[in-house]
Amino acid sequence: MLDTRALSRQPGSERREHLTVPAPENFGIEMVRVPEGAPMELDIRLEAVLEGVLVTGTARVPLEGECARCLDPIASDFEANFQELFVYPDTRSGGNAGDDELRLEDDLLDLEPVLRDAVVLQLPLSPLCRDDCPGLCPECGVRLADAGPDHHHDAADPRWAALGSIDLREGKQEG
Ligand SMILES: [Zn+2]
Ligand SMILES: [Zn+2]
Repeated sequence: MLDTRALSRQPGSERREHLTVPAPENFGIEMVRVPEGAPMELDIRLEAVLEGVLVTGTARVPLEGECARCLDPIASDFEANFQELFVYPDTRSGGNAGDDELRLEDDLLDLEPVLRDAVVLQLPLSPLCRDDCPGLCPECGVRLADAGPDHHHDAADPRWAALGSIDLREGKQEG
């Protein structure tokens, strides 16, 4: 929650805030996320307009995740821009107010949904530890970055080799 009382209601007045807030839980997607409690650095400009407060800002957050190809842990930073209008509670917004309209409550504005939209919706669905990550060997699962370019398997599929060693006579019913 961000307090806007320091901002004059006079349209055109503006105020800048720099703040660091801890990341809420579940701030991310399956493969990559902002660790809960990690510092999210926000540079925010609050601008009074006729209907409310226009919030423009940049969020810088740390990310942790897993490489979509080799499952190695990834740590990186992410930066996202956002802009949202928070409408004064007593303002009627011309009849086309949607349920998703953001409103000021007691001069406070809740940035969390804005940050979620700005950060979480822009996270890469398939993050990579590096752009040319070779991933895992499809046959044995070893990390190809470790195994090196010479890593290969004989043409025979190891699954067939395993089948070949099963003695079919053992499959007979007893008695
Ligand atoms: Zn990788
Ligand atoms: Zn292999």
